[in-house]
Amino acid sequence: MNRVLVVIITFLSISIYAQNDEQTLKNIYKQSLTNGQSYAWLDYLSNTIGGRLSGSQNAALAVEYTKNELEKLGLDKVWLQPVMVPKWVRGTKEMAYFETELGVKKVNICALGGSVATPNGGTKAKVLEVATFEDLAGLGEAKVKGKIVFINRALQADLINTFEAYGGCSSERYSGASVAAKYGAVGTIVRSLSSRQDDYPHTGSMGYGDLPVSQRIPSAAISTNDAVALSEALKDNPNLEFYFEQSCQQFDDVLSHNVIGEITGSDFPNEYMIVGGHLDSWDLGDGSHDDGAGVVQSIEVLRLLKESGIKPKRSIRVVLFMNEENGLRGGRKYAEVAAEKEENHIFALESDSGGFTPRGFSFDCSKGNLAQIEQWRSLFKPYLIHFFEKGYSGADIGPLKNDNIVLAGLRPDSQRYFDHHHAANDTFDAVNKRELELGAATMTSLVYLFDKYGVNQVKNIPQIKD
Ligand SMILES: [Zn+2]
Repeated sequence: MNRVLVVIITFLSISIYAQNDEQTLKNIYKQSLTNGQSYAWLDYLSNTIGGRLSGSQNAALAVEYTKNELEKLGLDKVWLQPVMVPKWVRGTKEMAYFETELGVKKVNICALGGSVATPNGGTKAKVLEVATFEDLAGLGEAKVKGKIVFINRALQADLINTFEAYGGCSSERYSGASVAAKYGAVGTIVRSLSSRQDDYPHTGSMGYGDLPVSQRIPSAAISTNDAVALSEALKDNPNLEFYFEQSCQQFDDVLSHNVIGEITGSDFPNEYMIVGGHLDSWDLGDGSHDDGAGVVQSIEVLRLLKESGIKPKRSIRVVLFMNEENGLRGGRKYAEVAAEKEENHIFALESDSGGFTPRGFSFDCSKGNLAQIEQWRSLFKPYLIHFFEKGYSGADIGPLKNDNIVLAGLRPDSQRYFDHHHAANDTFDAVNKRELELGAATMTSLVYLFDKYGVNQVKNIPQIKD
């Protein structure tokens, strides 16, 4: 064959390839939007089961339900992976108020996950308001001792990516109590990590580090409205007293499970690609956005592949991780077992940023792999998916990181996520069916492309016009 002919044939086959991909993505989106199952699964998980805190009966019900649903899909394998998880229980609803000259003002608080209870009869003390750990260090033990430390740090409103704003305040929530206790504080009240002014307190994990059990102090989140009210009241009367009561408790670890389903690859069964979200949630709402959405979207990826007649060359697993919220035990266990079995994981995708309109993905991978992914960008343009960036992937898949794997996170629009995150209003009605389905189709499309072309094979990828 002469060179010109080779070039023409190569060009034609590349164009057909690209056209096939366009058509396949179109089918996947159509299936998800016209015949999707993700919303119905989320309805059950949220409304019939509800919040799924690790170690709870609801978490066990969610394991059983999703295992059954995976079995109905006719996958090649479905199994449970045992993992020991922490069990923390909130107990009776928390109560809090502060006293002003006008009387008692009740406020909305919730215990932070992992916190100890208040002593019998609650905790009542004067309040010291700070914004950062530096403020606290500046005040020192003389000013802090015997007080409740009120950490009033608002999410930075001008950060467009709200995850960045959240990340900027999360160490105050996680470590506030352990730092304040070292200066002799008797409790901490942390402003909720929410982008909105409302009455919902937002929980989340906290830890005491190396602080001895006897020195641990109770820690709670206060709603953003009440944080503002408390701050104002302190300006009028710096000596006002704050009272709070919570009866949460930490129990011994209990047995739970990751739920896993697999379509075994036809050509490279020993190359594994995983897609997942976390099955556990906080207990205040029903965990629809965090992370019921990611769970049902991940199951939907395998259903959509089957439904679209795609027979993967590589083994594709859905992994529903247990205990992301207060321990990450499921993510660690999955990576540990994969390493023991010397399984070659080439790709992992997590959806754990809410069920909102998908915008794209962020990738934790080599430059070469990112160049490969960039070539697929135009395939996603008809679906308004344009955000492809190097960055963070997801907590549960993080332990799989090595030099070869491509880790990816679905990136939905983040503007409303922290209105609901870890609060009582993280509920099914806050999830839009179409947005959820678009996310599932977007994930399936990326999995399809990685399965078809593999990783580290940039030269075999058709160039797609912009
Ligand atoms: Zn989550």
